[in-house]
Amino acid sequence: MASREHAQALYDEVAEQHEGSVDALKARLIEQAAEVRQGLTDTTRSDVATALEHSVPEERAETADELEHAADDLGEAFHGSSLTLQKLDEDVAGEAQLGTDVIRIDPQKLAGGDRIVDREKAQDILVHEQEHTQQSAQADAETITIDARTYDARAIREMAAISRQKRIDFLSDEYRGFARVTMDEQDRALVRAGKFRELEARKNGGVQVATAA
Ligand SMILES: [Zn+2]
Repeated sequence: MASREHAQALYDEVAEQHEGSVDALKARLIEQAAEVRQGLTDTTRSDVATALEHSVPEERAETADELEHAADDLGEAFHGSSLTLQKLDEDVAGEAQLGTDVIRIDPQKLAGGDRIVDREKAQDILVHEQEHTQQSAQADAETITIDARTYDARAIREMAAISRQKRIDFLSDEYRGFARVTMDEQDRALVRAGKFRELEARKNGGVQVATAA
């Protein structure tokens, strides 16, 4: 489906350059869609612009539709959040600063199925990062041991953030490994407060590891 590929290529061009709010990216995509619909491809001399020049109006209309869908999906997934959309390192879809409201998400890492922006995946990335913003950078232990396996502070915070997600299929092997330790609301509250000792006791059936023998 050429229109889907053209739309993805145009989206990637726009997303690559973007650093700013969700609304600003949405506005740029809608502008792009209008240009495509009108057959205006003079803004770039990219391969996709050239391909679109030779495409029929129906195909251009489909490409424009796809871009508008992507804009809608961004709006739905990130509604009301003040995150920044920008390009991040290759294997990073989102990042947050612990204990602040700073969240950055890479708009080029949201594709799923046949969508440029998979709403569910985008929402999962957001709730994951939102959980990190609730977490204190301080903790009362460097590591905890659960079922004879030791996890460092980073792993503990990731487990809590991953436990907020509906889906984990798009995560790396390392993160899917973290997902094996499940956390409920109470566990997450302990992680947020940096009460790793209490968390460890709770995850080991309420018995302090030091005295469990
Ligand atoms: Zn994380």
